[in-house]
Amino acid sequence: MTPKCNICGGQEFRDYKGRPGEMCLSCKAKARHRVGLAVYENVLFPIIDASPGARVLHMAPEPSLFPVLSQRLGAAYTVSDAEPERYPYAPCLRLSFPKDFRQFPDGYFHGIIHNHILEHIPGHFGNHLKEFARLLAPGGRMIFSFPGPYSGVETIEGGEFMATDEERIFEFGMPEHIKIFGPDFYDVYTSVQGGFAINDGVTDELRTSLNVRPGMAPFHVWQRDDGKSDESDESGEAGADYEPPFCQPVPPRGADKVT
Ligand SMILES: [Zn+2]
Repeated sequence: MTPKCNICGGQEFRDYKGRPGEMCLSCKAKARHRVGLAVYENVLFPIIDASPGARVLHMAPEPSLFPVLSQRLGAAYTVSDAEPERYPYAPCLRLSFPKDFRQFPDGYFHGIIHNHILEHIPGHFGNHLKEFARLLAPGGRMIFSFPGPYSGVETIEGGEFMATDEERIFEFGMPEHIKIFGPDFYDVYTSVQGGFAINDGVTDELRTSLNVRPGMAPFHVWQRDDGKSDESDESGEAGADYEPPFCQPVPPRGADKVT
């Protein structure tokens, strides 16, 4: 079967930053955008369709995905960024995370999408995950991704305290990145209270059909307890089949670590 872009239907891909077949020639979607849409189809759209009045927050909406999600989700869809001028194609609310989100009551959103956001936010990512969890409605889901996690490194944060871009590039691969994640990410992630991690439902077979290499562009899905079942109790029934995506090998220090 010829690999096909699930965003635009394109069948031609080109290499990007050393990653073979990474980018769709027609809509410019990278591997993580194509996998992202597959994840939204698996674990987001069904719960939004089943919840009239549900709200979905998409932070930093990517140009290839914004039109698709906007059409699919309609009035349910809200987009935001700390710098909306970077998204002229989308009506982004100007909101900095976490401070501007404290105005939203608990459980305001049924879906939250944030891709390649965590590595940009000052402070501890565990606190950020807790704030996202607070914003999720019962049964709501957060779907997110970030560079890595990389095997063989410990999570390093604190780039906001580094004096120069050179230091941040050395540690994190990009001047705008202020943290890098290792496998210890999962210890913090899976201990966030009030919900549980679930699988994203994307198989390597599906990846291949999207021209994405096996295991690449891993996503994370966290579901808020719905308050109806005993899924949050010690027996760990719900989410018990959760398997963390594999950790990618860390690129050489100072090299471009971004996907
Ligand atoms: Zn495409």
